[in-house]
Amino acid sequence: THFGYQTVKKSEKQKKVAEVFHSVAGKYDLMNDLMSFGVHRLWKRYTLEMAGLRCGMQVLDLAGGTGDLAALFSPRVGPNGKIIVADINSSMLEVGRAKLADKGVVGNLEFVQANAECLPFADNHFDLVSIAFGLRNVTDKDKALASMCRVLKPGGRLLVLEFSKPQNELLSTVYDQYSFNVLPLMGKLVTNDADSYRYLAESIRMHPDQATLQQMCLDAGFAECEVFNLTGGVVALHRAFKA
Ligand code: SAM
Repeated sequence: THFGYQTVKKSEKQKKVAEVFHSVAGKYDLMNDLMSFGVHRLWKRYTLEMAGLRCGMQVLDLAGGTGDLAALFSPRVGPNGKIIVADINSSMLEVGRAKLADKGVVGNLEFVQANAECLPFADNHFDLVSIAFGLRNVTDKDKALASMCRVLKPGGRLLVLEFSKPQNELLSTVYDQYSFNVLPLMGKLVTNDADSYRYLAESIRMHPDQATLQQMCLDAGFAECEVFNLTGGVVALHRAFKA
């Protein structure tokens, strides 16, 4: 594959992911809207509706990047709740912090630079952990899922929003063409960085499908895990609970 993705060592993948997100941070939101025709906003709204948030809840939005989910969650948990936006990449966190401050989403947010594989938070602390379009970039996904389970309270929920496997042959073919041909071209035109968007297409193809990720959640210690396909399975939301 383009980056020798299947054979690269762990440190090389982390380095590649760091490069990609430092490079795209400034144009990340614009590219998201262009690439998904704005539909990522609907996927995120759906995630909000599945979050079961109430006033006072403690939330960790992991790989929170430019803060879209945090902006939706913040009013739901109110002034007595808290959203921690954690991301491994300082450029993404900076863009997120500035964007949310501009939108007036302040008060119950905190930004923390952290790796999903070894979360620097106490056991049994959060009511909700969310990770949107982040898990596929994590090198050791099993370790990250176990870490998420550890920091959740018993009864707490995990929401993983991620690209997945389209459920229909035709959609799958169209989507492959789109991601391997159109995405890098768009990346080149808008950010002058085709490579990062080629990485994006590859990371989507390599990501576990719905059933595999569901089993990984169970193996990581979650008691149950449901899958909700969005846009024909282009994206899936996994909702898991800690016993
Ligand atoms: N959640 C945001 C959204 O939905 O728009 C941003 C998603 S962006 C595609 C992926 C994010 O995952 C990047 O900000 C990247 O820095 C972050 N990331 C990658 N590997 C990570 C890791 N091991 N731990 C935490 N964040 C990570």
